Amino acid sequence: MRQPLVAGNWKMNGALESVRELLSGIKAGIGDIKKCEVAVCPPYVFIPLAQAELSGTSIPWGGQNLSAEQSGAFTGEVAGSMLTDFGCTYVIVGHSERRTLYGEDDALVAHKHAVARAAGLKPILCIGETLEEREKGVTEDVVARQVDAVVTASGVESLGDGVIAYEPVWAIGTGRTATPEQAQEVHAFIRKRVAESNADVASKLRILYGGSMKPDNAAELMVKSDIDGGLIGGASLKAADFLGICKAADDSV
Ligand code: PEP
Repeated sequence: MRQPLVAGNWKMNGALESVRELLSGIKAGIGDIKKCEVAVCPPYVFIPLAQAELSGTSIPWGGQNLSAEQSGAFTGEVAGSMLTDFGCTYVIVGHSERRTLYGEDDALVAHKHAVARAAGLKPILCIGETLEEREKGVTEDVVARQVDAVVTASGVESLGDGVIAYEPVWAIGTGRTATPEQAQEVHAFIRKRVAESNADVASKLRILYGGSMKPDNAAELMVKSDIDGGLIGGASLKAADFLGICKAADDSV
């Protein structure tokens, strides 16, 4: 049985006061969430605040990105070891915004996945097709290529304690969610792809759905057999909405 995970990707949102409020809102409601793991990924500068507020709770925190390098003259970058210094458990790797806006390709994402693991972080590997790719009927080719890049670089065992987030690019921040059937189909395909290399890793791998998940569509997604939680953007910025999604995940097990 896989424990669901709902992780909030705050992206580049928030200010000191709003982040304090959001953290305390999540803390206030977390008692109702019994079975689902709940995590938050704030912007780098708010990670020390997340650490201060969340230490001693059941809520882990993580980064949204990390450098491909360990240390040195890389102005503006943040190393994986710096994230672990501030208590991060998770780090998002290969989010579609990083892939499209910052040119991160499969090889770089696979490298960052390895760097994250070496630093002691659990990577949340984001994969997913664009609308054009879906319409061309190449969704499976795209997600297979994205998963295979990591498996080839680091071995299938590198997915062992990690997480994959299937995030169709056309559903991110657009209000257009994949139907539960569309999402389940791709999740099952991803698990099958990993199982071809290692069935045990595949059966334990948590595959999250991401893309305009909200409290009112979360339950129908979460009940699908290969959907093990969610990576939440917009709806993670309001404690009540985020907790509503966590509750749907909680009720699905
Ligand atoms: C995301 O960016 O990971 C995401 C899922 O965003 P949203 O929920 O806003 O679509």
